[in-house]
Amino acid sequence: MTEKTRKNPKRKSPASKKSPPTATGNNGLRPGQVLSDDCREVVANSVRHILNAVGEDPSRNGLADTPDRVARMYDELLQGYNVDPEQLLNNALFDVEYDQMVVVKDIEFYSMCEHHMIPFFGYAHVGYLPDTQVIGLSKIPRLVDMFARRLQVQERMTHQVATFLEDLVKPLGVGVVVEATHLCAVMRGVKKHHTRMITSAMLGDFRSNVSTREEFMAHIRHGGSPGL
Ligand SMILES: [Zn+2]
Repeated sequence: MTEKTRKNPKRKSPASKKSPPTATGNNGLRPGQVLSDDCREVVANSVRHILNAVGEDPSRNGLADTPDRVARMYDELLQGYNVDPEQLLNNALFDVEYDQMVVVKDIEFYSMCEHHMIPFFGYAHVGYLPDTQVIGLSKIPRLVDMFARRLQVQERMTHQVATFLEDLVKPLGVGVVVEATHLCAVMRGVKKHHTRMITSAMLGDFRSNVSTREEFMAHIRHGGSPGL
């Protein structure tokens, strides 16, 4: 398993010269908590700075709790850093004799663009061709979430899901297609509201065998993605 459970995002506090606390390897984190209490305080203070900088009054009614609320929100939005893949998988690999394609499609996800720190979201479609093992159905959406709930770019997320599954299940091939709407393209920049970005990663048979790839794409096309 090559994926590290916890990358170390550098956190710097503009308000402080001393080294900021980091969430890596610190004790005392509650389950699901990404940021330590100290880190939350750093985030909350930084949000207060932003509010001041844009001419707002951070103490006014309505904004008073916003810095702490934003800090707590990052725990949830960036939970993927804190997932232990071993725990997530929890022995959900099974030896079976099944040599047909497995496809899990329309997996809803929400991620954060690392360039703008605002959301991109959409659907991931994951397929693989088992060799000797299959993975429990519910685990694939969790894998997608583990990589989505981080600061991301869509291309990397797509690739990470594919290579993680390949390392784990050792199938004959893996295909991942992700389609997403990026708020940084919708609310700002080109302001094209219906533009979607589609990325794919094809490994093994999915890359080398046109008919495998086409079978996967046909599964995905059937019914289409809901509601994007
Ligand atoms: Zn962006």
